[in-house]
Amino acid sequence: MRSKHLLIGNWKMNLGPAQAVSFAENLLSQIKPLAQTDVWVAPPTVSLCDTARVLNGSPLAVGAQNVHWASAGAFTGETSPAFLSEIGARFSLVGHSERRTLFGETSATVAQRAKAALDAGLTPVVCIGETEHERVTGVTERVLEEQLAPIFEQVSSAESARVVLAYEPVWAIGTGRVASLAEIQSTHAFILSLWASQRYAHEAVVLYGGSVNPQNFADILALKEVDGALVGGASIKLDQWLQLIQIAEQTPLIG
Ligand code: PEP
Repeated sequence: MRSKHLLIGNWKMNLGPAQAVSFAENLLSQIKPLAQTDVWVAPPTVSLCDTARVLNGSPLAVGAQNVHWASAGAFTGETSPAFLSEIGARFSLVGHSERRTLFGETSATVAQRAKAALDAGLTPVVCIGETEHERVTGVTERVLEEQLAPIFEQVSSAESARVVLAYEPVWAIGTGRVASLAEIQSTHAFILSLWASQRYAHEAVVLYGGSVNPQNFADILALKEVDGALVGGASIKLDQWLQLIQIAEQTPLIG
């Protein structure tokens, strides 16, 4: 549980440098003061520096969509956690389902990335979630357990406060098919119980992700097991993103 709601916008491979700057400037000019919501955005790597420059000194944080486990070396196409820190990034997504499905990332390497992010002072946002086939065949909990096991090996009790988990059912990402409130509630409760079984010093922070939009977000965020949302499509539509932020500002904090 966090003391504030958390909204993270995953821009995916959208908004190159010029568009990212213009989006960030428009966002800053229209956003209202934030009392109870942290707002983070994850631009594509090539747009990170420019976006960080625009948002520098604002309440909004910038982070990456992925991070490598080494600080430098022969890893063509990857991004060092130290380099991200240097440009003012505050977090990185790791293990997004598109990375796992399209680029073959495994739970073991996702955990290595999360650990390297922690070591570099970045918050890892660890994405987990089941496919539709896994949900209908009743193995969701086993899948989540397997995805989190290497994270539990890597993250110390002291570091546990600096990890964010994002539950993103693969079948709900970018499809317009949001999970039901009952599915979100029971799955988050299961993730919270897994985390609690590690006896970490800090409680889990769990976001929901998957077709969140201004119509469904208030009900999702009202669930006591939900700390916020990881948002793709609606985070690059300025009017929708501002509406989501407004909903978070109006939804009472629980706990
Ligand atoms: C995502 O990319 O993490 C995501 C949840 O996308 P969307 O909101 O578009 O479903």
